[in-house]
Amino acid sequence: MQRGEIKTTCPYCGVGCGVIATVAADGAVSVRGDPDHPANYGRLCSKGSALAETLDLDGRLLYPEIRGQRVSWDAALDHVAQKFQSIIAQHGPDAVAFYVSGQLCTEDYYVANKLMKGFIGAANIDTNSRLCMSSAVAGYKRAFGSDTVPCSYEDLELADLIVLAGSNTAWCHPVVFQRIRKAREQHGTKIIVIDPRRTATCDLADLHLAVRPGTDAILFNGLLNFLRKEDFLDFEFLERHTEGFASALHAARVSSPNIVAVAQACGVEADSVAEFYRLFARTQKVVTLYSQGVSQSSSGVDKVNSIINCHLAAGRIGQPGMGPFSITGQPNAMGGREVGGLANQLAAHMDFDAPESVERVARFWGATRMAQKPGLKAVDLFDAIHAGKVKALWIMGTNPAVSMPDATRVRAALNKCEFVVVSDVLRHTDTTAYAHVLLPAAAWGEKDGSVTNSERRISRQRAFLPLPGEVRPDWWMVTQVARRMGYAQAFGYETPAQIFREHARLSGFENDGARDFDLGGLAEINDAKYRQLQPVLWPVRATAAHDAPRLFSDGKFFTPNGKARLVPITPRAPAHAPDAEYPLILNTGRVRDHWHTLTRTGKSPRLSLHEVEPCVAMQARDAQQCGVTDGALVQLASRWGRMLARVRVTDEQRAGSVFVPMHWNDQFAAQACVDTLVSPAVDPISGQPESKHTPVRVTPYTAAWYGFLLSRRLLAVPHVNYWVRAKGKGYYRYELAGDARPGEWAEWARALLCHSDGKAEWSEFFDRRAGRYRAARIVNNQLESCLFVSPDPTLPSRTWLAGLFEQDILSDVARTSLLAGKPRQGDSDAGEVVCACFGVGSNTIRRAIHDGADSVAALGEKLQAGTNCGSCIPELKKLLSGE
Ligand code: SF4
Repeated sequence: MQRGEIKTTCPYCGVGCGVIATVAADGAVSVRGDPDHPANYGRLCSKGSALAETLDLDGRLLYPEIRGQRVSWDAALDHVAQKFQSIIAQHGPDAVAFYVSGQLCTEDYYVANKLMKGFIGAANIDTNSRLCMSSAVAGYKRAFGSDTVPCSYEDLELADLIVLAGSNTAWCHPVVFQRIRKAREQHGTKIIVIDPRRTATCDLADLHLAVRPGTDAILFNGLLNFLRKEDFLDFEFLERHTEGFASALHAARVSSPNIVAVAQACGVEADSVAEFYRLFARTQKVVTLYSQGVSQSSSGVDKVNSIINCHLAAGRIGQPGMGPFSITGQPNAMGGREVGGLANQLAAHMDFDAPESVERVARFWGATRMAQKPGLKAVDLFDAIHAGKVKALWIMGTNPAVSMPDATRVRAALNKCEFVVVSDVLRHTDTTAYAHVLLPAAAWGEKDGSVTNSERRISRQRAFLPLPGEVRPDWWMVTQVARRMGYAQAFGYETPAQIFREHARLSGFENDGARDFDLGGLAEINDAKYRQLQPVLWPVRATAAHDAPRLFSDGKFFTPNGKARLVPITPRAPAHAPDAEYPLILNTGRVRDHWHTLTRTGKSPRLSLHEVEPCVAMQARDAQQCGVTDGALVQLASRWGRMLARVRVTDEQRAGSVFVPMHWNDQFAAQACVDTLVSPAVDPISGQPESKHTPVRVTPYTAAWYGFLLSRRLLAVPHVNYWVRAKGKGYYRYELAGDARPGEWAEWARALLCHSDGKAEWSEFFDRRAGRYRAARIVNNQLESCLFVSPDPTLPSRTWLAGLFEQDILSDVARTSLLAGKPRQGDSDAGEVVCACFGVGSNTIRRAIHDGADSVAALGEKLQAGTNCGSCIPELKKLLSGE
């Protein structure tokens, strides 16, 4: 373990914040934002701030396994290499595949891509970033001839108008949101939010367009038409630097002839549309920041190009404070794009459609069997596995059994697959359950490599923890398998620095400014300089002659004629429309404090208590029509699957659409995986799934009983229809519901809660007529566990009871009120967590407001709430306004 301060990069979202990890003499780790990192200048969000809580070895996969038995690395690697070789020999290279991840470092990605495309001879390597940003890639390539993000975060601070399209920036890219908030405070940046939901991001909005889901391209086509009609086009820029304007405008006129037609199609007020158009037209410095709300669509690429068209037509690109800016979901989605981690890319921003590129990469690698055509994109890949065409799959650092659309079919495909290898950090995920071979991978804090954030900034991830057990980095595993497959010469790497140098060399190889992605200036970086590499924006060309201070500032693009392309967009309806059977539209996404499939944030008490259960957010009238009420459990069903969730009635939802978070899975809950419902429809160009538009129905779920359980220990999950587990400070919380009552509650409770842990005091209360049962166990004067059961969902507050686990000796007051489930006078209930950083609950905040705190600043002064990452500020404002 390295003592002292290590500079590294946050492993969560695409903002890519710099983190300083401090390892104390006793080995304790603390983290803080890196004040020198240009992505965050010291800021961190709630997730980044809690990184130190996710580093324990609980649940880690520490040794290689074959079919559940621990084996040596040699045995595991030999087995993987032999199985891949025999399947390739029998069925050809297209019968094997890698499914990789935006969690990998660029060096891991690079060797996996090289092995598959240069030596196995297929291009069946796709990344889970396919699910989050592949439409953004395809849109950039159609417009610019290259996958070039033309903006940086600094542009958000230089802009006078920021259009946030399909992006809950406040929760999904919180530090970018903090930067926007500050810019707005300093120079009054106007903010427009385009989103069917009124999210926390609307806290900053001058204008919120709650458009009908799927209508973004109509809205932006209307903007293009408006710019032409109102004479806001940049004719000189269009003439000199673009092509395709006439056909793009024609398509825009057809779909979006006037503001009234746009407003009707998008389901918003015409005045609001007009205000958006006028603001865009009259503001020179405008950034459109877009994310999964745009790209996770069966017409995501068209939506992206409808946005880019407007920036090109108005000449708002290539200068400070302006441009179309796609922001990625994962920490190294961009690194995957750079190396060719998408099945339809080759490597280093070269593609299969140019034979000279294939030949160039083959020559550079010394490839023995070079892939000649694109491989299978994620959804097609799992279909091919299901069909028995792909017979061997290596999954690296991702959880497709949870995160892929139509997840039940994906699980069936994994179940049928002849050979599944999973390299992961955790022993038990929904995906490791299907593995024939498990390979223990390095986690954040143990990894050494580089990642690229949404603004093209490469930063180092540096290890500050030793590799536990027999854990190894992903690049090492791939290299070892490649050597065993006979490619030792091409995979002689011993360090990530060697891989990085080769990656940089390939990017600059026969480039001469012809390709955007170029790290030629880093190709000769030595080990010491690699160790010290400071965050850097690419391109980093070997000769400054080709460097542009800002990409596209010279109006030159990477198309054959150097001109950007406007693309005619004919908006298409989503793949599946709601109908009488499935009348509501399901939208999926993230919550504020959780990340992907909970494998890390689920370890942190402070991150687990803001949203404890999977919920379905819906409007009051929709809830009424479905016969469900706020707080009730419901069943959601689509043509593809079903799940249980807790209803949250909110006017933040548009009528007709519901929102369900993407995070919960079989390790943390029963029947809670939303991707089992999600349609497998994809964009025809990018292959990105339509994760935000699945028709569903919501029906009441009436259980025979409801309950919750708090326990100091992790318990075996009871056999009930519904359970969710969350980790609190010193306890675990289980929400429960069952279709059948146990014969005897006392017996059931004892079987669940009793351990041989010495003398326990057992308190019980049973109202047999009302069907209410309550029990508590006290061991050594500490609350060990408590269970509350009711025939209806009305149950006591969990938060006061949870606070009792912090008492070293249970107070007499607490003992007497324990089974009442609520505090007596003088003892208070903090309420559900609002501020994760300081653990401040809603009731505490309400009391402070009652006592005179009348602003966010006053709450911060009194309670610290909102004073660290600021992610809870929108919620504080809601509480201040009495909501
Ligand atoms: Fe990590 Fe993203 Fe939060 Fe930054 S904004 S600390 S990168 S999760």
